[in-house]
Amino acid sequence: MQEQPYMTCDDSDGLHEECGVFGVYDFDGNDVAPTIYYGLLALQHRGQESCGIAVSDTEGPKGKVKVYKGMGLAGEVFTPDVLEELRQGDIGVGHVRYSTAGGSTRENAQPLVLNYIKGTLALAHNGNLVNAPELRRELEYGGAIFQTTIDSEVVAYHIARERVKSGTVEEAVRLAMKKIAGAYSLVVMSPRKLIGARDPFGFKPLCIGKRDNAYILASETCALDTVGAEFVRDVKPGEIVTITKEGIKSDRSLCLAPEKEARCIFEYIYFARPDTRIDGVSVYHARLAAGRFLAEDHPVEADLVVGVPESGNAAAQGYAQESGIPYGTAFVKNSYVGRTFIKPKQKNRESSVQVKLNVLKESVAGKRIVMVDDSIVRGTTCGRIVGMLREAGAKEVHVRISAPPFLYPCYFGTDIPSEDQLIAHGRTTEEICREIGADSLGYLGLERLPQMAEGLPICSACFSGRYPIAPPAEDIRGEYIR
Ligand code: SF4
Repeated sequence: MQEQPYMTCDDSDGLHEECGVFGVYDFDGNDVAPTIYYGLLALQHRGQESCGIAVSDTEGPKGKVKVYKGMGLAGEVFTPDVLEELRQGDIGVGHVRYSTAGGSTRENAQPLVLNYIKGTLALAHNGNLVNAPELRRELEYGGAIFQTTIDSEVVAYHIARERVKSGTVEEAVRLAMKKIAGAYSLVVMSPRKLIGARDPFGFKPLCIGKRDNAYILASETCALDTVGAEFVRDVKPGEIVTITKEGIKSDRSLCLAPEKEARCIFEYIYFARPDTRIDGVSVYHARLAAGRFLAEDHPVEADLVVGVPESGNAAAQGYAQESGIPYGTAFVKNSYVGRTFIKPKQKNRESSVQVKLNVLKESVAGKRIVMVDDSIVRGTTCGRIVGMLREAGAKEVHVRISAPPFLYPCYFGTDIPSEDQLIAHGRTTEEICREIGADSLGYLGLERLPQMAEGLPICSACFSGRYPIAPPAEDIRGEYIR
C-alpha cells in the first residue's frame, strides 16, 4: 500500500517548514535522549510528520549508535520505554520532519545514520538543496545505493566520501558543503564530535546553547529555553562549529560577505515560534513591526483588531498599537485536533477550518473588525474565516496580511504550491479581496521586509521572484498538496 502524506487540520491552507534539528553533547552523559525529546517537542511546529533521535557514546566503541524513528508527533513516537532504550550515551541528534522533497515515509525519517569505514555518521538536516538530483546521480554512477529519497542522504554520502580523504570529520563537512547548494542547517554526530553547519546564505536558522557541561545545537532558541539551556550564539551563515570536550571550534572559511546572506523572511513572518530570536532579531518584535507597518500603510476605521491564531496575533497587536484601535480575541483555537485529514481535497480543506477555529460571537457581533493573518496561499482558509466572522455578526471585515502576496515558488524548503494555485497569481488585490469576501484587503509591502528583519539581509524570493541562488533546471520541489 502506498503511504499517504499526513496532514494536520492546521495545515489545510497553510505552509510548512521542512524540518527542525536538535543536537546535544553532554560531557557528563546526563539525559541526552530526554533532552533531545524535549527539544523536539519545542520544535514540533517545524514538522509533524515524523521524528527521530540517534544517540551514541563518545567513550564507547565507534559505530555504536542507537536510533529510533517513527511517523507522527514526538509525544506519540517517544514513549517512556523508547526513551529508556536510548538512555545510554553522551552525544545525540534529533529531528522533526515535514516533507517538501522526498515522500512522507518512515524510511525518509531522520536522523539518517550511515555506517562507513570511519565509523558512523548521524545527520539531521533542515532545508532543500537545489542541486540534489545532480549530486545523487553522480553518487549513483559511482556505485552508491540510496536507502531514502531525501536530500539529507546525499549530504551524508558526500560527507562520508570526503571523510575518507580528509583528516577530520569537520573538514569532510566543509568539503561536502563546497559541493552542495541550497538551504541547509545541519547537525552531524560523528563517533567523537557534534558538528553544526549552516549554508552560506543562512536560509535556515541554527543556534548554540549551553547547559551545565552540555552544548546544544537547535533550529530555534525556543528549544534552548525549553531544555533550560542558555543561548550562547547563532551559528553564522556558512559557519561550521565543531563541539568536542575541548570546547567549540569554528570554521568560517565558507562565509559570504554579509550583504550576500539571505535568511528566509518567512521564518520571521510565520515559521518560527514568537519566543525565538534568529540572528539577534526577535520573531515577536518582527511580527509586531509588521503589524505597525500595516497600520501605517493600510489604515481603516474599525472597532476591533484581531489576529488569526497563532502567527497573526503578534502582528494584530502591532496593528492595534499603531492604529489605536483596541486589540481583542475573535477566535478560539482547538489545540487538540490531531492529524485528522489525510491529503485533503478542496472540500475537506474548508471544513477543517471549522474544526480548528471557533469565532467568539460575543467579541465580534456588531463590530467593524480588522483581521490580521500572516499569509494567503490559496485563499480557501482566509475566505472561510472571513465568512465565519460575518456569520458571527461582524459588520465589516478588513483583512490585513503581514506578508506580501505569494507569487513565486520556493526551492529552499517551503512547500509553496505551484503558481496556478496561488490566489495572488494573476489577480489584483481588489480581485483577491472580492474572492475572500472582505470589505478591504491590505498586504505588507515588499520594501517593509528588510525593516521587519531589522536590516538583516533576507531572502524574499517567493514574493519578489529574486532568488539568491538560481532556481534549479528541474523542479526539485516535492509532491505538493494540490
Ligand atoms: S523563497 Fe520565500 S519561503 Fe523560500 S526561503 Fe525565500 S523567503 Fe523563505
